[in-house]
Amino acid sequence: MTARRRAVLAVAALLLVPGCGTSFADTVAAEARASADAGRGVPPGDPAEGDCAERAAPDPDRPRVGLDFRLDDDLRTVTGTETVVFTADRATVELVFRLVPNAPGAAAEGNRLTVDAVRGEDVAGSGYEDGQADGPGGLYVIRLERELEAGDETQVALDFTLLLGSGGFERVGTAEGVSWWASGAPLLAREPGVGWARDPFVGILGETATSPVADTHIRVSAPAALTVLMTGDQDEPSAVRDGRRTWTATEPVARDVSVAVGEFATATTTTPGGVRVTTGVLPDAGMPADGLADWTVEAIGDLAERFGAFPYRTLTVPLLPDRGGGIEYPSSILLAGADQLVLLHEVAHMWFYGMVGDSQFRDPWLDEAFASYAESVGFPPGDVAQQLALPGDVGAAMDQFSESGQYFEQVYGKGAAALLTARDAAGPRAFDAAVRCYVDANAWTIATPDDVARALADLPAALDVLVDAGALRPEDLPG
Ligand SMILES: [Zn+2]
Repeated sequence: MTARRRAVLAVAALLLVPGCGTSFADTVAAEARASADAGRGVPPGDPAEGDCAERAAPDPDRPRVGLDFRLDDDLRTVTGTETVVFTADRATVELVFRLVPNAPGAAAEGNRLTVDAVRGEDVAGSGYEDGQADGPGGLYVIRLERELEAGDETQVALDFTLLLGSGGFERVGTAEGVSWWASGAPLLAREPGVGWARDPFVGILGETATSPVADTHIRVSAPAALTVLMTGDQDEPSAVRDGRRTWTATEPVARDVSVAVGEFATATTTTPGGVRVTTGVLPDAGMPADGLADWTVEAIGDLAERFGAFPYRTLTVPLLPDRGGGIEYPSSILLAGADQLVLLHEVAHMWFYGMVGDSQFRDPWLDEAFASYAESVGFPPGDVAQQLALPGDVGAAMDQFSESGQYFEQVYGKGAAALLTARDAAGPRAFDAAVRCYVDANAWTIATPDDVARALADLPAALDVLVDAGALRPEDLPG
């Protein structure tokens, strides 16, 4: 996400590498099932240097999640049912969900997510855990009757109620003519191969979740006059029935979901690479939907040239009232205020967070420093040396910041400066090729700092910069 802030940094267009990724045509039909699962083409071959393999496919044993939402006529109550089919990657006796809307301060804004009922053959019981969040708690744990061994599958269903507040720009909320909820259902908090992510919530502005990619199906029932823009490949809405329409979407590899429902005027366009972009603006937005679509297409093109093919088939961008910022979700962005730089930052998160996931609590720089760095494909740089000289470690976890400003400076500002400086130190061509290999090797996983170090192993000058900035620790380095 970004709070209201100006450009951190960028780098001159003259540093763009000629010949690196001149095409990102959608070649999905010719690719293996795995790539087809991911739903889009492979990255343009011919990285300038290095010999990374093709983009990794998502885990075939990834969870399957169904989300059925109903926005009440009051436009501030969402009821729903979530079904989860979970295949254990290692032994476990429970399922842990994160209740993101209950983050600290949520109650004051009127947000609240409660679990009303849980079903499933293996369910023994369930309850909230505090997680340093507001009531009723930040985590919800389902205890199982039996221990799942690696490879065992279980299925559960959770009924939930979400109240949307109106206190500010949050992941869930309401305003005149629009309601939105992202991370609005219990979020499976699993780091595959590691375990459940029970990280506490924090008081500063920023994400703290860790979630695996899942095959995701979404259904939204909403008053007929409103339009839905959400994560995933949306079908046409149903016919009106009882004053409502039902909207559905599928996304084969989403680690979370965003839904916006409002009086949107929309524009749809397709990028040269085949990504369908749909934007939506509210009445009196002061920004036409097609102008927002043009910005989005431009951002996708610039970023794909640097980082490889756009990760999703579709991208939706609902423009919310101007409260200064944006929040990224897989194949959907909540944009609060028409700002081209913020939009570029959030589109960059489709690679860094959406596709290459991270523990947003433990390693927030893996998405925020990289997305801030990626702003450089479209905007001129700030004072890189000054940003790099800021105190603190780029690689700090979310519980190591006392206030949001420090977090933004250290992770976004200094983090982007460190990556720009590392690029200069290693040479743009070699660095870009290595980052693209990092992206492709870690697609659809939850990456860690040692994955970055491994990708840059042949670029010691870049590694030195990242160690000096506290992004990488010496023990992250290969060999
Ligand atoms: Zn961000």
